Amino acid sequence: MSKGLLISVSGPSGSGKGSVLAKVKEGNNSFGTSVSVTTRAPREGEVDGKDYYFKSKDEFVRMVEEGEIIEYDEFVGNLYGTPTIPLQEMSESGTDVLLDLTIAGSMALKENFDQAVTIFLIPPSYEELENRLRGRGTESDEDIKARLAVARDEIDRSGGFDYVVVNDDLDEAAAKIEAIIKAEKCRLVRNIEKLREMT
Ligand code: 5GP
Repeated sequence: MSKGLLISVSGPSGSGKGSVLAKVKEGNNSFGTSVSVTTRAPREGEVDGKDYYFKSKDEFVRMVEEGEIIEYDEFVGNLYGTPTIPLQEMSESGTDVLLDLTIAGSMALKENFDQAVTIFLIPPSYEELENRLRGRGTESDEDIKARLAVARDEIDRSGGFDYVVVNDDLDEAAAKIEAIIKAEKCRLVRNIEKLREMT
């Protein structure tokens, strides 16, 4: 059986990552979910073991040291990491997994797994990104400026990704991600076993 793909989507704050990933999952409920470990406090309504595994910093460090976390990164002062065993098990059993990771997380995934596919999601323009961030009405002007600066830096560091998807339309962006997944499954390297069976 061929291994399940590990599809990681990264993108700046305001790129619409959450909505696009939700749309892709809506169209296909067979994707596996990787529940990350984080040191950040739960938000209202978040459930331990479903949204994240909420851990202390000491426990997080122990998990990293003992290999229980395959990749991790810091994001606005908190640590986020992917548990090793569930990810390996899902992929080995042929389940495709969609992940929402920082840029460093996507790059680490690529280093660790041949079956990783990395996608960088970008907004159509800086103006649009700024409009989206301002439209949320949740951040101060200073915070929006900081997020825009981070976004510029992130786009600068996007060179290692396999694909770029522009999110100017939610349905279209989700359709592009679905098309990438289909094409990746047809790559020769992912079908060696099948070809062998037929010769
Ligand atoms: P939030 O605090 O909004 O839930 O997540 C912040 C950021 O952390 C998200 O943009 C997401 O990409 C990233 N993230 C969540 N889980 C992981 C993980 O396991 N590893 C890495 N590298 N990034 C993560």
